Amino acid sequence: MSIIDLRSDTVTLPSAGMREAMARAELGDDVYGEDPTVNRLEATLAERLGFEAALFVPTGTMSNLLGLMAHCERGDEYIVGQQAHTYKYEGGGAAVLGSIQPQPIDGEADGSLDLGKVEAAIKQDDFHFARTRLLALENTMQGKVLPLEYLAAARELTRRRGLALHLDGARLYNAAVKQGVDAREITRHFDSVSVCLSKGLGAPVGSVLCGSRELIGKARRLRKMVGGGMRQAGGLAAAGLYAIEHQVERLAEDHANAERLGAELAGLGYRVEPVQTNMIYVDIGAQAAALRDFLAGQGIRVSAAPRLRLVTHLDVKSADIPRIVEAFAAFRRV
Ligand SMILES: *Cc1c(COP(=O)(O)O)cnc(C)c1O
Repeated sequence: MSIIDLRSDTVTLPSAGMREAMARAELGDDVYGEDPTVNRLEATLAERLGFEAALFVPTGTMSNLLGLMAHCERGDEYIVGQQAHTYKYEGGGAAVLGSIQPQPIDGEADGSLDLGKVEAAIKQDDFHFARTRLLALENTMQGKVLPLEYLAAARELTRRRGLALHLDGARLYNAAVKQGVDAREITRHFDSVSVCLSKGLGAPVGSVLCGSRELIGKARRLRKMVGGGMRQAGGLAAAGLYAIEHQVERLAEDHANAERLGAELAGLGYRVEPVQTNMIYVDIGAQAAALRDFLAGQGIRVSAAPRLRLVTHLDVKSADIPRIVEAFAAFRRV
C-alpha cells in the first residue's frame, strides 16, 4: 500500500526530471559568487518577480530572518500577524538574532491584517517606543489568498507612513496560480519577498529572498553570519530552477484536488472550512489523535490537530482522493 502524506507540501520527493537537472548542474563556490547555477536561480527569480537582486538560502525561515534583519536595526519593530510564520513559527529569530521587536496583531478571517489595526499599531517617534519600521504579510496565509486590492492598500499605507513592506511568500505561486495572474502582480507591491522552493514547488531544499541590490547586499552579509553561506549549492539551485520552470502551473492540480477533497469530506458530515488553494482545514476536535492513528492504519499520514490541516501537493494524485475519502468515511463508522 503506497503512503499518502497529507501533513504538508514539504514532504514531496524530487521528481525524476528534477533529479536529472540536479545531477547535471554546473557547480562552483557560491560564497565566492562562483556557482553558475545559484547565480542563474537568483537572476531568474529577481527578473521574474521584478526585483534588482535575489539571494538563495537554505530555508524560508532564514530568508524571512535575513529580510527582517536587512530592513530593521536593533530596537526597531515589525508589525505582523499573531498567526504569521515570521512571528509564531520561526523560533523568535527576529527578536533573538536581530533584536527586532515584533508587534503582533490579530489577523482577520480572510488571512489579511486589518489596515486600520496596523495603522493604529504604528508607534509615534518618541524615545519611549521601538521604531516601527516594517509590515510583514504572508500570502498565502493558511491557504488563503490576499486580494490584489488589499496588497495595493497595504502598499499605500506603508508608503504613507514610511514603513517597508515584506512578504513571506512561502506559497506565493499558489496565490498567483489561484488568482490567474503573473506573480509580479503580487510582488510589485513589496520591498522584499521570500519564496519557498521546497513547498508546493517540490524542490527538496531552498528559498529565495528578493529585494533591491542594497537590501540583498545586506542580506548576503547576514546570511554568512548565520551560517547560511553554502559552497557548491548549484545542485540544489538546479532543483529550484527546475521547479520554477516545470512545477508552477501544476499547482492548479493541487488546488483542484484540495477543493474536491474538501467537498467530499463536507459531504461526509465533517466541518470543513472553505478551500482556496492547497490546504483543507477540518474541525476534528477531540478526535484528532484517534483519527491520525486510524488513518495511519490505512496508509494515510495526517497530523493530530483539532483544527486539522490537510495539504495537497505533487505527490498526492487525483486518483488518491477516493482512497482518502473512503478512509475518512470509515472513521465516521467506527
Ligand atoms: C514553511 C514556511 C516558511 C519557511 O519554512 P522553512 O521550513 O524554514 O523553509 C515560512 N513561511 C511560511 C508561511 C511557511 O509555510
